[in-house]
Amino acid sequence: MDFDLSEDQRAFQRTARDFARDRLAPHAGRWDEEKHFPAEELREACQLGFGGIYVPEALGGTGLSRLDAAIIFEELAYADPSTTAFLTIHNMVAGMIARFGNDDQRGRWLEDVVMGDKFASYALTEPGCGSDAAALRTRAVAEGNAQYRVNGSKAFISGGGRSDLYAVMLRTGVDGPKGISCVVVEDGSPGLSFGKPESKMGWNSQPTSVVNFTDCHVPVANRLGAEGDGFRTAMMGLDGGRINIAACSLGGAQACLDAALAYVKQRRAFGKTLSEFQALQFKLADMATELEAARLMVHRAAVALDTGARDATLRCAMAKRFATDACSHIVDEALQLHGGYGYIKDYQIERYLRDLRVHRILEGTNEIMRVIIARKLLEAS
Ligand SMILES: Cc1cc2nc3c(=O)[nH]c(=O)nc-3n(C[C@H](O)[C@H](O)[C@H](O)COP(=O)(O)OP(=O)(O)OC[C@H]3O[C@@H](n4cnc5c(N)ncnc54)[C@H](O)[C@@H]3O)c2cc1C
Repeated sequence: MDFDLSEDQRAFQRTARDFARDRLAPHAGRWDEEKHFPAEELREACQLGFGGIYVPEALGGTGLSRLDAAIIFEELAYADPSTTAFLTIHNMVAGMIARFGNDDQRGRWLEDVVMGDKFASYALTEPGCGSDAAALRTRAVAEGNAQYRVNGSKAFISGGGRSDLYAVMLRTGVDGPKGISCVVVEDGSPGLSFGKPESKMGWNSQPTSVVNFTDCHVPVANRLGAEGDGFRTAMMGLDGGRINIAACSLGGAQACLDAALAYVKQRRAFGKTLSEFQALQFKLADMATELEAARLMVHRAAVALDTGARDATLRCAMAKRFATDACSHIVDEALQLHGGYGYIKDYQIERYLRDLRVHRILEGTNEIMRVIIARKLLEAS
């Protein structure tokens, strides 16, 4: 077991760190405030190879591993968890097209997605069902062999109204997971419309909206994989998505821990710097320890996905649950160490707190992570 990063990993870690410092950090506060979607910077990130990180090189991607992706996303999220999280979803869909798409579909979409000329979203959740995703009701009815007619709505879709492609889980058959197919719907399709952008606590640099389908006509040729395979496709995408979101939490927590370390060394109270109080030293020690544990779990789960380990789903659920909870707590502690200034926007800690909060809810809530973990444990015992 080797815990050191390879030379290659250090190289793209540096590239991501430099990009985050130069192109994300100076603007992230304003993007949050103005609810600005930084399309230009996202495109630049894609052109650095971060748009199809684990799409094979033979298909035009960067051909890196899930572990490599976690390292990159952590560095980017150090500056801006919200923008990075959008990029993780974009990568998830790129990975789904590469893995489950046929040659025609890859040819039509992959290059544009990998290069950031088209942005991609993932649409599973509906207004009436989130955790119980297999109960989804948006229905696609085949009209002849060539077209689906789609009716229904998806809720909370990241990039909704802004993305060019939507990987949508639709009911094409019976109730339950076996009646679901994954179909790519292109922006501009007749009958596709969007709700107003949701007003959110965080993740403000990317829009979130309802996606409506009203007699929306979508070519059958846009279906990824076989009819009825969509739920499996969606869940396989989510295993990696959970690692990605957990990596965004790592980056945000590391940024706040670093800010807290710097702050306690210069802020004075009772004739000492804050760093001289052992109670606060212990807080910092616990924050760093939890962050290290979270990072190890995320990297271990990423390797399990890379190697196709049988327990990969279990490890992804454990890592997502632990890392997103731990990192939220670390950011909250960093805010506390800043006293009143932590609550002020100039210090940015409150932005990280708001951005990381949703990581405990999406890509499967942390309660659903416990459902998965318990199910896998009981199956194996
Ligand atoms: C900002 C944002 C962006 C999002 N982006 C996307 C996106 O791009 N694509 C997409 O498809 N979805 C997206 N989502 C949706 C997200 O994945 C869902 O909100 C999430 O899965 C929870 O579903 P729900 O909101 O319907 O909550 P519910 O399923 O109604 O759950 C409510 C509460 O009950 C708990 N609960 C439910 N069932 C159980 C159970 N069996 N045992 C214990 N507890 C349970 C949940 O953990 C939660 O605490 C996004 C959400 C947000 C807020």
